Amino acid sequence: MKYVSTRGQVEWIDFQDAVLMGLADDGGLMIPRSIPDATDQLENWATLSYPDLAFEILRRFTRDMPEHDLRILIEKTYGPSYFVNDTAPEDKREVAPVVQAGDLFIQELWHGPTLAFKDVALQLLGNLFEYILARRGGKLNILGATSGDTGSAAIYGCRGRAGIDIFVMHPHGRVSPIQEHQMTSVPDANVHNIAVEGSFDDCQNLMKSIAGDLLFKRQYSLGAVNSVNWARVLAQIVYYFHGAFNVCRRTGAEAIRVAVPTGNFGDVLAGWYAMKMGAPIRQLILATNENDILARFYHSGEYSLGPEVKKTLSPSMDIQVASNFERYLYYHVGGNAKRLRELMAEFSRTGSLRVEPGKGGVVDADFTADRADTQQVLAVIGKFFRNHNYVLDPHTACGVCAAEQLLEKRGGLGTPPRDEDLPILCLATAHPAKFPAAIAQATGRDDLAKHPAIEAMMHLPTRCKLLPNSKQAVRNYIIETLG
Ligand SMILES: *Cc1c(COP(=O)(O)O)cnc(C)c1O
Repeated sequence: MKYVSTRGQVEWIDFQDAVLMGLADDGGLMIPRSIPDATDQLENWATLSYPDLAFEILRRFTRDMPEHDLRILIEKTYGPSYFVNDTAPEDKREVAPVVQAGDLFIQELWHGPTLAFKDVALQLLGNLFEYILARRGGKLNILGATSGDTGSAAIYGCRGRAGIDIFVMHPHGRVSPIQEHQMTSVPDANVHNIAVEGSFDDCQNLMKSIAGDLLFKRQYSLGAVNSVNWARVLAQIVYYFHGAFNVCRRTGAEAIRVAVPTGNFGDVLAGWYAMKMGAPIRQLILATNENDILARFYHSGEYSLGPEVKKTLSPSMDIQVASNFERYLYYHVGGNAKRLRELMAEFSRTGSLRVEPGKGGVVDADFTADRADTQQVLAVIGKFFRNHNYVLDPHTACGVCAAEQLLEKRGGLGTPPRDEDLPILCLATAHPAKFPAAIAQATGRDDLAKHPAIEAMMHLPTRCKLLPNSKQAVRNYIIETLG
């Protein structure tokens, strides 16, 4: 499998090069040249274990890696170390187990080390980086900026890996105590937390301006782990197949619908690839919080910036521009890189772009979409706990809201639902213990959002470098640290 850029100016590179490149050199995003068709494999795949299924899917995208190496990498990623903080008994540990709650199925993607779904991809990415560096030689220095959740998953993905140092900036005093501890209590010598005296935007601007200095970037081998990295999307395709097989087996349905809480369009894009490969998924239910640029798009065909980013109970979805949307848009315009470049240029000029609707005025029948506001999120968390004794985190709750809207046929934003009788699987993207304040507010109880790993972590010593909001200061710190 070779990879090309959505903007058409990087072509025919191998998987491992695409992983190292992150953002494509022409400013686009790397995608596979074609989407493998797995429809004739479904029967065989339906009963595979998670690692075996991951191997079957990944090997179709990673032809430049020996299969034996890929298998070892997957076993290492989803082996015992993945479950260091999982409370399930050892013989019951699963990467993506499915539970039923009333009419809905929930796929828990938070059994990894930081209790969030980002571990599924970032644990694999860390191993991939280490593997590629070991064979090619050299070092990689990851520089990231986080408003909270991504930072910890990236740190856990890279901690202790040979050849890698990771620097993560967060806004000083502006991330939750849990998020801060999760990042700064990691003792590995290759992990460097930086608290910047500024906002999240300042951190992101520092990252862009430091990584944008190509000389510095090359000299210090700077790399990125944000969700534009193709390997992250790839790793996520696996649990869509796994979840769909599971629900079809339990219900006898021939296909399902999947509700996905969305920020950067990374997770739901993986679901779309799974659908195109032939997974038994009939429709994706895209769910946003009040930052609803994506839900509005599937309703109107117009992708346009809202006012400001709103702070919500689901901070990892408080995103204004979805960095993976460009990949989807590329396919939507029929793989026409020139047309895509025009659309992206229009968006950066005016903050808005529009696509022509397809059949019946529908933007894309593969998707339906909805948004959930704070009141709806609190209400659904409370209701779910009362009715099913199950605690949803506020991100997952956005997806559950959208799913319930469909079940109750109340409509909502987006295209008409397809196949109303098919079961719905809701992706659970974080453990509720990461967001105790929201859970307490929703349920009136402060004893529900607990997890022993988080409680233990709050007592660990922390390490963090406080720096002013200055490019020079951060650069100097990187240079000094790397010697
Ligand atoms: C990152 C994140 C999301 C959004 O995922 P995208 O791939 O950005 O759409 C949802 N929930 C949680 C808990 C997250 O950390």
